Amino acid sequence: MQDDLRDLVATGCRVLGSEGHGDLIWGHVSARDPEGRGTWMKAATWGFEEVTRDDVVLLTRDGSVIAGSGRRHAEFPIHTEILAARPDVGSVVHTHAPHAVALAATGSPLLPISHEGTLFTPPEVPRFEETGDLILTAELGARVAATLGDQRALFLVNHGIVATGRDVPTAVLGAILLERACRTQLLAVGAASTLAASDDDEALRKRDHCYNDALLEQAWDYLVRRLPGDSGSAGRRPGRRPFRRRNVRT
Ligand SMILES: [Zn+2]
Repeated sequence: MQDDLRDLVATGCRVLGSEGHGDLIWGHVSARDPEGRGTWMKAATWGFEEVTRDDVVLLTRDGSVIAGSGRRHAEFPIHTEILAARPDVGSVVHTHAPHAVALAATGSPLLPISHEGTLFTPPEVPRFEETGDLILTAELGARVAATLGDQRALFLVNHGIVATGRDVPTAVLGAILLERACRTQLLAVGAASTLAASDDDEALRKRDHCYNDALLEQAWDYLVRRLPGDSGSAGRRPGRRPFRRRNVRT
């Protein structure tokens, strides 16, 4: 169970790396420990695409590493405080996704001009504007969680994004789809001064039609199958082969 969850966090990191969310060694994925011991989180010093289960550590809410080896990321309070505030959330993703950072900096809200945007709006995607600096304290993390409210994602303006989900695949897909939605909007803004967008009713229907649980699961399986050298082992289907360690370090 524990190894399965560590594999899932590591796979989520590699999927994000394959989708352009890498920012050298920054950005992270976490998951709530099912036994209530804390938060499993990608360790520092590794890029998304090279993370394996051995690079996932268990943290307490105050940031102490109590299982696994490796250093914790300094921005762990984003994860620990959101997980504390949101019992419905099982996984948190934070990345410096470039198109999302760019769109948030314009001050324009994300609009449902593509399928992807309908996953997040309506209502408007929350914006955390208190600081564009790192989220290094529990107090700041708690204020990020308060800004997120009951939404699935938010913009950390001048910094990055946070996406949440009931599990790692859902949170990772949220980050991927938010970045894609922002990229599409930036393309449109560059070509026209007014944009056609779904109204709220259509956007909510599309959210269900395009991104219901079954379709998100299929999209996750596809992203895992597409990973270099991966057999899709950390997908949610039962009976898959255990994850093969790819990067052996000495
Ligand atoms: Zn960050």
